[in-house]
Amino acid sequence: MQDRHIGDVRVTRIEEQMGPGFPAKDFFPEFDADTFAAEGHWLAPSYYQPESGRLMTSIHSWLLRTGSHTILVDACSGNHKPRPGMPRFDMLNTQYLDRLREAGVQPEEIDFVMCTHLHVDHVGWNTRLENGKWVPTFPNAKYVMSRTDHDFWEAEAKRPGTEAFKVNTYNDSVLPIVEAKKAEFVTGEHGMCGCLTLKPAPGHTPGQIRVDLDSRGKRAIFAGDALHNPVQVPLWKWNSCFCEDLDLARKSRHTLLADCVEQGALLMPAHFAPPHAAYIKEKGDRFELDWDYDNKRGR
Ligand SMILES: [Zn+2]
Repeated sequence: MQDRHIGDVRVTRIEEQMGPGFPAKDFFPEFDADTFAAEGHWLAPSYYQPESGRLMTSIHSWLLRTGSHTILVDACSGNHKPRPGMPRFDMLNTQYLDRLREAGVQPEEIDFVMCTHLHVDHVGWNTRLENGKWVPTFPNAKYVMSRTDHDFWEAEAKRPGTEAFKVNTYNDSVLPIVEAKKAEFVTGEHGMCGCLTLKPAPGHTPGQIRVDLDSRGKRAIFAGDALHNPVQVPLWKWNSCFCEDLDLARKSRHTLLADCVEQGALLMPAHFAPPHAAYIKEKGDRFELDWDYDNKRGR
C-alpha cells in the first residue's frame, strides 16, 4: 500500500474492488468508437481491457490523516447489502475493513466520512449489519453530505417505481446515519479541518461535492465521480450513464480539470485504476494526464 503525502496530509487508498467493469460502449452515452480508439494507445491495459471492451475500474476510499483528524472520503459498496440487478454491489463480503485496519486505522478512529454523493458505491460502508440492524460503521464519525443530494435521494427512495437498489441504498446506508444523528449536511462551499474545502460539483448527482485539499500549498482534489475513467480527461465532454444532468456534469468536469491544471492539484477520483491519481496538463485545446509532473515531484 503506497501512501502519498500532500503537504502534511498522508493519503492512503483503501481498496474495495478492482477489475473490469462496464463495457466502454455502454458506459458513456456519448461513446464513439473512432474517438475512443484514438485514445487506445495510452488507455490499455491499465484503464481499458481491449479483449473484453471493458473499462478497468477501482472502487476505493481515500483515507486522509492530517495530524489532527482522520478522514475517509467515500465509503464504497459495503457488505451484505441487497442490490437487486447490480451484481457488482450485491451481497458483497469483501475485506475492506481489514484493509483499513492494515493501513493502521480502526473504524472508531475515523472523525469524518465525506460522502461526495449518495450513490450505491460511495455510501455502502457508512453502515454495517449488527444483530440484523444497520448501524454506523464508524461510530465516532460525523458523516458529511450534501443537503441537496440527501433530499434528492430521500425523495427518490420514497417514489414509486424507483429501482430497488436505489431504495435500498438510501434506506440501509444513509437513513440509519441520519436517524443516529451523525449526518452533517452542507450546502455551497464549506471549509473543514483547516486544509479541506468542500465545493459543489453537481451533475453526476444533483448535489455532488468535491473535496479540495490544500496543505502548505500542496494540493489535491478528491473528485468523487466527476469523472470515472482517465479517458474522460481528454474526452471531458463524455458523461457516464449514471450522470443525472449531462450538461451540468460536463460543466463541473471541465471546471475540475481546469482547476487541477491551474492549481497543480493532484486529481484523485473514486474509480481510477492504478496508479489511481493523476496530475493534469493542458495541451492545446485538450486536457491530458501529466506523468512528467508526477515524476518531477518524486511521487
Ligand atoms: Zn461511483
